[in-house]
Amino acid sequence: MKSKNVFDLDPERLATTDEHGHRVYLFPEDVRGAWKARRTVLYWLLILFYLTLPWIYVGGRPALLIDLGRAELTFFGTTFRGVEPVLLFLFVASGLFFIACLTSLYGRVWCGWACPQTVFIQNIFLRLEALAEGSARKRRELASGPWTANRVLRKALKWFLFTVVSLHIAHTFLGYFVGPRELLRISMGPPSENLTLFILTMTATAVILLDFGWFREQFCIIACPYGRMQSVVMDENSLVISYDPKRGEPRRGTPGILRSGEGDCINCFNCVKVCPTGIDIRRGTQLECIACTQCIDACDEIMAKLNKPPGLIRYSSESELSGKVRKPLTVRSAVYLATALLLVGAFAYFLRSTGDLQLIFLRNKVPFQITEAGRTVVNQFTLKLSQQGARAYSLRFRVREGSVRLQTPTTPTSVTGPEKKVVVLFKFPPELLIGGSRKILVEVHDDLTDAVVAEKEVVLVGNTH
Ligand code: SF4
Ligand code: SF4
Repeated sequence: MKSKNVFDLDPERLATTDEHGHRVYLFPEDVRGAWKARRTVLYWLLILFYLTLPWIYVGGRPALLIDLGRAELTFFGTTFRGVEPVLLFLFVASGLFFIACLTSLYGRVWCGWACPQTVFIQNIFLRLEALAEGSARKRRELASGPWTANRVLRKALKWFLFTVVSLHIAHTFLGYFVGPRELLRISMGPPSENLTLFILTMTATAVILLDFGWFREQFCIIACPYGRMQSVVMDENSLVISYDPKRGEPRRGTPGILRSGEGDCINCFNCVKVCPTGIDIRRGTQLECIACTQCIDACDEIMAKLNKPPGLIRYSSESELSGKVRKPLTVRSAVYLATALLLVGAFAYFLRSTGDLQLIFLRNKVPFQITEAGRTVVNQFTLKLSQQGARAYSLRFRVREGSVRLQTPTTPTSVTGPEKKVVVLFKFPPELLIGGSRKILVEVHDDLTDAVVAEKEVVLVGNTH
């Protein structure tokens, strides 16, 4: 009896699990081709970008710095302080809708072309693995063979190389949160001086090592939320990696079919052997497909050998494969795009209205005091001033209501650093209040530019009796 090819997958279970539900470790074979060449160039550029971004300075500040302790985000020269929840929400929501639009148009394109997981595994970890253990076939044999000295040495070398790279990635990752200068200082000093950061970096190293070195496609298949989302946003017009059954079927070896009646698929399983998630794309679009294009190159190589045109596996859509014309932009994609643009517009509006100088009046614990035998009410506030840019301010505060006197310890109030707190007193006659309170507008004037830089509403309170 003819034995079943190991790459002829059981349709009843995931390619990465055996009949007992245990994980089947994959050894995707290397591939050459036009798509691989394009991806390799892009992957190197992205690796360069991901690893150098924290070291780049723009206007004397890191290009990207996420300072969680101070709730600051520095993005290409501009620092956003006390990032407001509404801005954060609009930023995240617009990003999600852009991704939804991209996915509805081009499937899981992010996963195959730009996700750090794919980029680092394909261009670094798999290369190191091949360096230490040889080709995919040799790696498979090594993994299933006995624990010889050769196996121990090769595994040790592989995990040593993986650890060095993971340490480097984890330190760069830390650089996004502490900045390059602090990163250098921390890296040079003993771990005991920065124990928390040291533990965090070592934890990140361990996570990267385990994920990129061992967990790999399992993350894409079972853990990645983006992978789950794609089935909701994609439709028959989405451009995905597809096998053309009209051209390929009946494939070679189909019972009862003569060679002359076969389609172009010779059932070589090369598309399965190279797949990093171990699937057979000939079974249609699957959640596990990360759109890496490896199977396109593998199949095109076979087609070239058979003197047949490439593209048995190609970028296509369900509608195209069923003979219809693919709509490049569907209502669904247009709605995602429009929503994303609206959210970006709202983000820009809020950002602009927030300005680079932020003022928050915080009422003191005692809301008001009565002085001068009841003729004056005093409201005391702490004014928190924070600025996102690098410029200095020299501020004067004005209130339009003539009966309100505003006092600050220094006039004008200079703001040269990122944050400043100033005590502000409002003194006014009780008659100003209506029903125990009164809204007033505080105008903030900058002497250095001779311009009004902000207006803030403040509610004054007091006793009406
Ligand atoms: S089916 Fe093809 S494109 Fe999808 S993950 Fe496998 S090799 Fe990559
Ligand atoms: S690589 Fe092409 S010819 Fe070979 S099995 Fe896959 S689809 Fe068929």
